Amino acid sequence: LNNIAVLTSGGDAPGMNAAVRAVVRTGIYHQLNVYGIMYGYRGMLKNEIFPMESKSVANIIQRGGTILKTARCKEFYEYEGRKKAYENLKKHNIDGLVVIGGDGSFNGAQKFSQEFDIPCIGLPGTIDKDIAGTDSTIGFDTAVNTAIEAIDKIRDTADAHDRLFVIEVMGRDAGYIALHSGISTGAEHILLPERKTEVNDIIEELQANERRRKLVNLIVVAEGDETGGAAEVGRIIKERCPQLDTRVCILGHIQRGGAPSCTDRILASRMGYAAVDALLEGIHNVMIGIVNDKIHYTPLDKAVKAKQEIDPEWFKIVKILAS
Ligand code: ATP
Repeated sequence: LNNIAVLTSGGDAPGMNAAVRAVVRTGIYHQLNVYGIMYGYRGMLKNEIFPMESKSVANIIQRGGTILKTARCKEFYEYEGRKKAYENLKKHNIDGLVVIGGDGSFNGAQKFSQEFDIPCIGLPGTIDKDIAGTDSTIGFDTAVNTAIEAIDKIRDTADAHDRLFVIEVMGRDAGYIALHSGISTGAEHILLPERKTEVNDIIEELQANERRRKLVNLIVVAEGDETGGAAEVGRIIKERCPQLDTRVCILGHIQRGGAPSCTDRILASRMGYAAVDALLEGIHNVMIGIVNDKIHYTPLDKAVKAKQEIDPEWFKIVKILAS
């Protein structure tokens, strides 16, 4: 192993920069040449590949986003596109690749590493925490903390006006951001893609709350909840409970940005270090995860979107604590 490259791909997540920094500096420590690839697989196809030094990653551990930029790349789904990417890597004699991204990016890396002789290592960088083979993903903790900060602010105004707020957080397929932020902000209800919630039950509870003069209510909805997101939940509540002062707030992209939390910086640093270590050890085509605080390898084809069962006891806890 002499020359390795690193890229970020798919949706950005806070902590990706800390991971890039760890890969670059660990590589340099082991006397490897380290290349950065701009805009994920698109940059691989367009030969946007440049050598990185230790100072290329100075002053980025605390920054959200990704200095390597990220993109989605249609051509990489096709063999011809991947071949072009391979030829570009060969121009720089790159013999190891670290891909920081979500399960889609790992699918791409898996195909690429099967077709060409470039070992790939994946690092889970996604705010959704929806990837098998790791207890958490780079960006999740920061996204949850951003959501909590925003929801706390909404609670202040909800309280001042006796309002009901329906708040939408990110999570198209996974409800972890909703579950964690909802529990941490004392939400009355949490709606997730993993579990069907009857809006009728919520309406009945809201009416009961109203009878006992509990007027401030927070409902946290993951964008992928099957009722149809916060807008639809809010619409139904307004229709069925016109006497309540109901507002809808969609948190949106603020959840992707901002300085990574301590947890994400540590996760990213540890995983980036482990990625280079794995390449040096000859461990190829795996995703680095952390399970029970230990580095854990998952073959790239098994590092898929994981829809985990959410323990129903959580919903009991939510109900008891918010009553
Ligand atoms: P996130 O879910 O956080 O947005 P992701 O990595 O899953 O991240 P995708 O858009 O699914 O994001 O994938 C990123 C890129 O990886 C795609 O634009 C494409 O270039 C490549 N890719 C994804 N799936 C495949 C596949 N099956 N075959 C080849 N390339 C793929």
